[in-house]
Amino acid sequence: MQVVIIGTGPAGLTAAIYAARAALNPVIYAGSQHGGQLTTTTEVENYPGFADAIMGPELMQAMTGQAERLGVEIIYDEISKVDFSSSSPLQLWAGEKQITAKAVIIATGATARTLGLPQEKELMGRGLSTCATCDGFFYKGKRVLVVGGGDSAMEEALYLSKLCSEVILIHRRAQFRASPIMLERAQKNDKIIFKTPYQVDTTHADQNGLQAVSIVNCETGASEKIATEGLFMAIGHTPNSSQFAPYINTDEHGYIRIHDGTKTNVQGVFAAGDIADPVFRQAVTAAGMGCQAAIQAQRYLES
Ligand code: NAP
Repeated sequence: MQVVIIGTGPAGLTAAIYAARAALNPVIYAGSQHGGQLTTTTEVENYPGFADAIMGPELMQAMTGQAERLGVEIIYDEISKVDFSSSSPLQLWAGEKQITAKAVIIATGATARTLGLPQEKELMGRGLSTCATCDGFFYKGKRVLVVGGGDSAMEEALYLSKLCSEVILIHRRAQFRASPIMLERAQKNDKIIFKTPYQVDTTHADQNGLQAVSIVNCETGASEKIATEGLFMAIGHTPNSSQFAPYINTDEHGYIRIHDGTKTNVQGVFAAGDIADPVFRQAVTAAGMGCQAAIQAQRYLES
């Protein structure tokens, strides 16, 4: 194969669109979450081109349709292993199937972080969640908790406020990372109650799932038990880069290090989007990086 793209978020799909238009016949692997993180979000107001907000899944569907119309082959499978010890060719595996490529664009994005609570695994989907758009419906008319102080937490809280009777937002500091506009919207919402500085301490569950959560005041150590069947964790993301070790250099958090645009330390391997961007992490910046990666892959193949 000429170009293999890994990941179908805004970075991967934009790279595919550009690579297809450059007649590189790209093949794109969708991975475990086709469309990436935007498929678990609601209204996107900051992607240019839409006078009215567009829903995240709708935007990703449109990008997928555009790539398909241009002849991109989308494979609904995951790249499980790579061998980049030589650039000619680069080797990848989708399960047992081995693939070789002249150029690879890594656009695998990032995955939602969790709190590491006791019983976390057992309670995922039975009270614990990292996605309000996916699971909020199950808590219609109920009280829920959201943990975090960034834009994700505000977005989740605002979304849940439309469905739930009460949303308690737990954050470990009095200061917020959220952008002022998102924070203000959440603060003005009557259904959202802010509790700072608190950390979630433990969960209380029975055979029906989560029933209550204990939180602790970070300054006084005082503990409180809140009855709730739903706890949404919105505390950031971890880059999906582990399958590329030990070939691709990353920073201490796992973000792929890039230089001169989207080049990695391996010739012919490029990285775009959240996997290589600890700073901006926006759909529009990811799309821009996908475009750069495709152009750089094209130039690399021509040379
Ligand atoms: P973030 O900005 O990194 O915020 C993560 C939040 O979780 C922080 O408030 C952090 O607290 C808290 N946190 C982290 N680990 C924790 C732990 N173990 N226990 C308790 N709290 C913990 O992540 P994000 O909100 O996912 O946003 C990431 C990027 O995406 C940002 O650039 C954001 O602007 C963007 N984004 C944009 C939109 C939008 O425009 N619609 C929506 C979502 C995200 P501390 O502050 O104390 O560290």
